[in-house]
Amino acid sequence: MEINNFNAYCDQFDRASHELELEENLAKLLKYPDRELSVELPLIRDDGSLMMLHGYRIQHNNARGPFKGGLRFHPRVDIDEIRALSALMTFKTALVDIPFGGGKGGIQVDPKELSSRELEQLTRKFVRAISPIIGVQTDIPAPDVNTNAQIMAWFMDEYSQTHGYTPGIVTGKPISLGGSRGREAATGYGVSIILREIAKYRGIPLEDATIVIQGLGNVGSWAAQNLHQAGCRVIAVSDHEGGILDPEGIDIPSLLEYKRENGSIHGFAKTKTIDQGTLLCTPCDFLIPAALGGIIHKMNANSLQCKMVVEAANGPTTPTADEILRNKNIPVIPDILANAGGVIASYYEWVQNLQRHYWEEEEVNNKLEKKLVDALYEVIALAHSREELSYRTAAFMLAINRVADAVAIRGRLT
Ligand code: GLU
Repeated sequence: MEINNFNAYCDQFDRASHELELEENLAKLLKYPDRELSVELPLIRDDGSLMMLHGYRIQHNNARGPFKGGLRFHPRVDIDEIRALSALMTFKTALVDIPFGGGKGGIQVDPKELSSRELEQLTRKFVRAISPIIGVQTDIPAPDVNTNAQIMAWFMDEYSQTHGYTPGIVTGKPISLGGSRGREAATGYGVSIILREIAKYRGIPLEDATIVIQGLGNVGSWAAQNLHQAGCRVIAVSDHEGGILDPEGIDIPSLLEYKRENGSIHGFAKTKTIDQGTLLCTPCDFLIPAALGGIIHKMNANSLQCKMVVEAANGPTTPTADEILRNKNIPVIPDILANAGGVIASYYEWVQNLQRHYWEEEEVNNKLEKKLVDALYEVIALAHSREELSYRTAAFMLAINRVADAVAIRGRLT
C-alpha cells in the first residue's frame, strides 16, 4: 500500500479541519487518540506449543459518549491501522449523531488458522487483557473484520465472569444473549439504504442499476442481498480468491446458498471468473468496496469505470486515489457514512441492554434508516453549499464540528 492508514486518516482530517478553519489546539486534540493499549497474548495451541500474539485497544475520543468500535482479527492488524480505525469511529458516531465516541481493537492473527477452542481461548485472554479500560459506560467493543456473534458471546461471557451479567459490554451478540434484532444485517442494510437514497438524489434509476461488490463477508453479502431485492443488478462480486462476473446480473440468493454449501463463490453457474483488478475496473453504476482498507489506490483509481463509489469497508480509498476520483468526477460516499448502519444498530443494542427491554426488528430498522438518511442529506447539503467540497470532506466537517463542540463544552481545552 502506498501510504499507511493513520496518514491516510490524517489527510482526511486535515482537509476538513482546514475547511472548518478549526482552531489549532482543538485540531491537535481531536486528531490523536486519547489512549492506546498494546497487549501480548500467550495462546496455548492444540499441539501444546505456545504462540505469542499482539493485541490492541485504542480509544480515540469520548467527548460525546463512551468509546465505541469493533474488534478485528487479521494478520495485517497493527497499531497504526487500529489507530486510524479508532479515529474513524469517533467521526462516524458523531456524523450519525449517536452518543458515543470512537475506539477500535484488534489482534494480529489469522483466525482461519486457529481451531474453535484456540479462537475462544484467544478471545477470552484478550478480554482479560483489556478489561481494565473497557466498561458499559466506558468502552464497548463490537464485531469487525473476521469477528462475529460467537466471538462477541465469548467476550460477554468472559467479562461477565468477573463483573456479573453485563450484556452491554459488547454489541453484535447473538440474539439469545441480548443481541439486537437487525444487528447482524445492519451494516449491509445501511449500505443499501445509502445507495438507494444517493441514487434517487442523483437521478440514477435503482431498478436495473449495475453494482459491483468487492468482498462478500458479512457486509458485502447483506448489501448484495438487499440491493438484489431492490431490483438492482449485482453484476460482479469477489471474495479473497478472486471474482465472478455475469453482466446480466447474478442471482444473489442462489449464490449465497452456493457459498454456504461450497465455502466459495467460484464455479457458480453462468458466471465468468475474473481477477480482483478486473472486478474493480468493471463498468458499473456503483462500486462497493466491502473488504479491507487501501484497495482503491493510485495504481488502479484511474482505471475505475463506475459512476460512484460507496465505501462499505473502512478506509478502502487511499488519499491519492481519492484525489484521482475527484478529478474523474466519480463521487465517493465515505465509509463513515456508508457503513455507519452497523454502529447505529450497535447503539440500539446497547440501549436495549440497558433497558432490559427488547425491540422488534422493524423498530430497529426504521430508526436506523432515519438516522442514516438524515446524515446523508446533511452531508449532501453541506457538500453542495461550497465549490469542490467532496462528500468525504463534508462528512468529516459535520462530524468534527460535533466532537469539537462536546470537547469545548466539557472544558477539555483548558
Ligand atoms: N466494526 C463496525 C464499524 O467499523 C461496527 C462497530 C460497532 O458496532 O461498534 O463501524
